[in-house]
Amino acid sequence: MSSIAERLHEIKSEIPQGVNLVAVSKFHPNEALMEAYNAGQRIFGESRVQEFLLKEESLPKDIRWHFIGHLQTNKVRKIIGRTALIESVDSMHLLNCIDEESARIGLVTAVLMQVHVAREETKFGFSPDELITYFKEKRFRDLNATHICGIMGMASNSDDLQLVKSDFEKIHEIFEKVKNICGDELAGFDTLSMGMSGDWPLAVAKGSNLIRIGTYIFGERVY
Ligand SMILES: *Cc1c(COP(=O)(O)O)cnc(C)c1O
Repeated sequence: MSSIAERLHEIKSEIPQGVNLVAVSKFHPNEALMEAYNAGQRIFGESRVQEFLLKEESLPKDIRWHFIGHLQTNKVRKIIGRTALIESVDSMHLLNCIDEESARIGLVTAVLMQVHVAREETKFGFSPDELITYFKEKRFRDLNATHICGIMGMASNSDDLQLVKSDFEKIHEIFEKVKNICGDELAGFDTLSMGMSGDWPLAVAKGSNLIRIGTYIFGERVY
């Protein structure tokens, strides 16, 4: 069996230039993260607040942590200032909460807006219409301490390649639309996060520049 380092190198050799890799380390122990770290990986993705905080405290300080899970507003305070990017902003309430908390402690938090296009009912995120309306109305002007850097999305969890492709296409379309609507006013809106272990080549083909890979690098998660 190949090692974490080998799989990491393999995937890095396959992704095109300009596409960044988040090593999704949720449910994996610090030793596994350190193996990836020692192989040069610096961006890690976590989805649960407690687990993230424990890892963030004990692992090297130059790791850039992406929070990728559903975030409850009552836990925002715990993670603000500790993330390089919160990829999973899935409600206006959460966005406002992040903004208030960031302003309160005097820093700017980078986020992605999560859009929901997949078939599954359980997935979090804004509907495409909600998101487009938010940007059309330029409501981001109300933010004081939050930088919206782009969009995160997931395709349906399906073997139907056409469905997965069309989901990624939809997410890409929303990303482009928002860029057109906002132009220079939303400087730095340049990140399109989509693609996981099972579908990342399709996502990259549809314009993704940030992929989130867990299982392929670290193996199956033990819940
Ligand atoms: C767990 C998770 C991933 C990684 O999924 P894999 O299939 O293990 O690569 C990516 N994105 C999000 C939002 C996740 O929760």
